[in-house]
Amino acid sequence: MQGDPEVAVLRLGHRPGRDERITTHVGLTARALGADRVILAGDAAGRADTVADITDRFGGPFETETVDSWRPVLRDFEGSIVHLTMYGLEVQEVEAEIRETHREGRDPLLVVVGAEKVPFDVYEKADWNVAVTNQPHSEIASLAVFLDRLFEGRELDREWEDAEKVVVPQAVGKRMEAADEE
Ligand code: SAM
Repeated sequence: MQGDPEVAVLRLGHRPGRDERITTHVGLTARALGADRVILAGDAAGRADTVADITDRFGGPFETETVDSWRPVLRDFEGSIVHLTMYGLEVQEVEAEIRETHREGRDPLLVVVGAEKVPFDVYEKADWNVAVTNQPHSEIASLAVFLDRLFEGRELDREWEDAEKVVVPQAVGKRMEAADEE
């Protein structure tokens, strides 16, 4: 988010056919909730255009990056790595330490989410394996809760730049305007 060190989200383990919408929603959730960049690895890369199209229409800054393989991303990332997994330490126990490293230590953060079984070297490479409850659920839900905890809600008030369209909040109904009409 603007003013903070970088937060990138790495999606690994996309299953063609089955994970198309989920991977898209990982990208859209990363963008909407304050990450600066999503990295779509391997078969997940096919969802990049959809995520980039939303950024074109609704604003940024937000980068959508594709890579052939996720391992070099993990290996070469210059910053700290959080892997979201139901087997990890509870988010409420580690969030303050992660925030301190990220915001006060000015350390970029890579947030990793999986799809199917995540290889064990990801658990070893991560600085924190973080659980949003120790119950099985979803990469979209865990990413949303984690980012909101990381940013302590500040992401809800972020400004969007270069948008074509803006939604005007309504108690009832739907209203969207060209961005320069605001
Ligand atoms: N059983 C799989 C495994 O061994 O990692 C989990 C598959 S789950 C459908 C897909 C992804 O959702 C996981 O890789 C993880 O990133 C995320 N996830 C699911 N439940 C979670 C939880 N309670 N806390 C954090 N992340 C979770």
